[in-house]
Amino acid sequence: MGTVFRIVVHGRREPAAAAASEVFESIDRLEQVLSDYRDDSELVQACREAWREPKVISPTLYEVLAAGLELGRATGGALDITVRPFVELWRLARHQKRLPDPEQLAEARRRVGIDKVLLNPRTRSLRLAVPGMKLDLGAIGKGYAADQALRQLQSLGFASAMVDAGGDLALGLPPPGRRGWRVQIGAGTDRERLLVLSRCSVATSGDGYQFVEIDGIRYSHIIDPRTGIGVTHQGSATVIADEAIRADALATALMVVPMEDGEALTRRLSVESEVVRRSPGELTKIVRTPGFPA
Ligand code: AMP
Ligand code: MG
Repeated sequence: MGTVFRIVVHGRREPAAAAASEVFESIDRLEQVLSDYRDDSELVQACREAWREPKVISPTLYEVLAAGLELGRATGGALDITVRPFVELWRLARHQKRLPDPEQLAEARRRVGIDKVLLNPRTRSLRLAVPGMKLDLGAIGKGYAADQALRQLQSLGFASAMVDAGGDLALGLPPPGRRGWRVQIGAGTDRERLLVLSRCSVATSGDGYQFVEIDGIRYSHIIDPRTGIGVTHQGSATVIADEAIRADALATALMVVPMEDGEALTRRLSVESEVVRRSPGELTKIVRTPGFPA
């Protein structure tokens, strides 16, 4: 999944270490299902075949895809697990320092859209309506993996645990004697601070560490599915939610939508969020939901 996972478990040393090893193995198996960094993952293989006829997929892949489509609809299409063709154009643009031309964008657009992904729960199969479609779980896979890992630790008897999937956090009960896990947000900015949290999830998107600059404009690696190119505002979105997959999905979606729409989105999905946005030539804006720790 292109990231480093970190697990913290409180308990007796040996059983805790054994539990963590078991969970790391599960994460490796998940990687084999969800990754788009490897050609032989179940996701990549399924996409290659699922347009000819419905392709039966594993319960895990089915669950993540179904969640991705549902979150896509819930965010009005801001989160779109079919954006892969746009992501590939973006990578090329980054390499060539030139925006994709309108024809390339139009061609990619034919292969993008969550309405072109058909899941059949009865046969547990995936069908892609158009050849050349590619699915991208980059915006939700790490969150899903963090949730699964925390659940596994809990079922092994370690309630006081946390999983860090490259910045997407799933938090269990606090460390013994503490009020919560200390979570740093806004690192490297003038808004750096510590939150104390437990039994919830936190994810951040943005911060401008991945961008391409063309003709003096910075484009993010987060794509606006309506235009097919990276968003041009800078900043970050941090979401606190019950599950890490939702925090991960919403953090990405909040980077896409206009700030005024973000509030309605977070309210509708009952999550807490903080969006920091710098648009070219404008003052930095910050919008926080009432329940987000100030
Ligand atoms: P995240 O770091 O969680 O915000 O996810 C960013 C990654 O998700 C990118 O590197 C792309 O692979 C993918 N992506 C980019 N834009 C979108 C989008 N609008 N919806 C879903 N996935 C996206
Ligand atoms: Mg995300």
